[in-house]
Amino acid sequence: SHTIKETINAKKTRKLVKIPSLSESIPDKIQYLLIGGGTASFSAFRAIKSADPTARVLVISAEGYLPHMRPPLSKELWYGDDTEMAKSLNFHQWNGTSRSLFYEPEPFYTPVEELTTAKNGGISLARGWKVESINVSQKKVKLNDGKEISYDKCLIATGSIPKTLKLYDDASEELKNKFSVFRSINDFEDLWEQLGHIKSIAIIGGGFLGSELAASLANKGKKNGVKIYQIFKEKGNMGKVLPNYLSQWTTEKVRNEGVEVVTETEVKNCSLDNDKQQVNLVLSNGKNISVDHVIMAVGAKPNTELAADAGLEIDSKLDGYLVNSELQARTDLYIAGDCACFYDKQLGRRRVEHHDHAVISGRLAGENMAGAAKPYQHQPMFWSDIGPSVGYEAIGIVDSSLITMGVFAKGNHKDPSLANETDQNTSTNKKEINEELVSKNNESISENDYNKGVVFYLKNDVIVGIVLWNLFNRMSIARQVLKSDRCYKDLNEVAKLFNIHGD
Ligand code: FAD
Ligand code: NAD
Ligand code: NAD
Repeated sequence: SHTIKETINAKKTRKLVKIPSLSESIPDKIQYLLIGGGTASFSAFRAIKSADPTARVLVISAEGYLPHMRPPLSKELWYGDDTEMAKSLNFHQWNGTSRSLFYEPEPFYTPVEELTTAKNGGISLARGWKVESINVSQKKVKLNDGKEISYDKCLIATGSIPKTLKLYDDASEELKNKFSVFRSINDFEDLWEQLGHIKSIAIIGGGFLGSELAASLANKGKKNGVKIYQIFKEKGNMGKVLPNYLSQWTTEKVRNEGVEVVTETEVKNCSLDNDKQQVNLVLSNGKNISVDHVIMAVGAKPNTELAADAGLEIDSKLDGYLVNSELQARTDLYIAGDCACFYDKQLGRRRVEHHDHAVISGRLAGENMAGAAKPYQHQPMFWSDIGPSVGYEAIGIVDSSLITMGVFAKGNHKDPSLANETDQNTSTNKKEINEELVSKNNESISENDYNKGVVFYLKNDVIVGIVLWNLFNRMSIARQVLKSDRCYKDLNEVAKLFNIHGD
């Protein structure tokens, strides 16, 4: 729960920056109130300002930092050799240019004291402050020190919170000190510092965060001899997203980065070693490993703590605040980003925990708050980079339990013929087909290098999701294919649209 996460952060003895230090200087009444200082909120205030240039926007953020993006925290920031650069939270993008984690520098924001009187309005940030409750009928919120703020329009963009393991929740304080979660700048800074003096880390989880971080830390750790283990239940990295053969292939790449990947395994128990320096993890595969530190990368939970008191509905299946196509939970109350469970006219009810969705839904919420009444219809993409040789982008519903069909460029051959992989996990004869596929895929793993290609995800023969595997600048084509909502007879033909052999 979020209280656990707060305890983890508090333990790291970093003092939360609180600006302004007293809530008296925060306006009592504001036109646009945004709860959360993440990407969805940033995208919303941009959209509000462009629709309504003299808007007065107040952002309340529980984080002590200016609004920033999270993706480089598990990737780019670990690859530079320049410690000063990482400390200043600058990173090199894939195209070589350098960029800051922060969306806007400090002077961009109007000091909160001036927001009500500034001639052209502005965007102010109260950071280190938390909204404790919302009164939806009176249209006001209460801060953690009791201060009340009335709003005309409000956005909840509170993101998500890392989950923790039960064995962690039940552990002693001493043992808990050896564990962490990873989501924020503080978490990045703590881990960076730790890497300087520890010799081994176990990452639990095989999803986005665990896989990206394992590859990044192994790369960084090579220089100081830090051993990285990654332990998870699935058969391979990103096993819930990628078809099995591709997940296996990716796992080999992660191993090549120097990570000891332990698949199909759970952590059953943990304890401090005799000298209390290391954590001993008891694994379901019968083995034990001892490490200096453990990172839990076991998923995130949407932050909906404001719901109960405000009487807002949470989706019983997908979690997150239930909103309509215009991203409204109630009149004048909008939700965007990780914590929104929204209606996608094409693909149905969804909740998406990725950067571009935060950008797109934040923008739509901002536009609608400023008077537009647009439905959600632009599909967001997401991307992930796992070490230097695996990068992909995706759109729609990408779930490895669906039927998938992948088309790849053959190895490094000059011959432009394509290799073709079908993964048909139909529920009727799942076992049989799976077995047949495992052997077929195992064969193809040795003979085929899945360097680049495209994977289609199908529901009732219609493409509902697409992964572009080490293939960039094709997202608009993928978006078109997804939008057409058609049953294609020959997916090889569709694959040709992506010009897989081109650059
Ligand atoms: P967040 O960014 O979580 O922001 C929520 C904000 O709300 C926080 O500032 C929080 O402190 C604040 N808040 C919460 N409750 C309150 C309250 N009551 N009062 C005031 N403030 C509050 N996605 C990709 O597509 N590609 C990637 O490569 C990628 N890499 C990632 C790497 C890492 C390490 C992480 C953690 C995530 C990554 N993601 C990536 C996911 C992406 O960052 C998230 O989907 C995105 O941050 C969601 O934005 P958000 O604004 O909804 O929430
Ligand atoms: P995830 O859902 O992608 O992966 C969770 C992993 O933890 C899975 O391997 C799962 O099997 C495992 N797990 C779940 N419960 C467990 C348990 N009780 N015991 C052991 N293992 C368990 O989530 P994540 O990788 O932790 O990522 C955290 C958040 O950050 C997510 O919202 C994610 O979307 C986001 N993120 C996204 C990106 C990206 O889009 N490239 C990168 C990093 C993080
Ligand atoms: P894009 O410009 O279409 O960006 C999509 C969205 O993601 C935008 O909202 C953008 O602001 C955001 N975004 C892109 N990169 C980001 C980052 N590193 N951190 C935070 N936000 C980011 O897509 P793009 O920039 O062409 O590429 C998206 C991803 O694809 C990048 O992470 C990059 O690593 C990868 N990529 C790799 C190569 C390659 O040759 N290896 C080429 C192109 C893109």
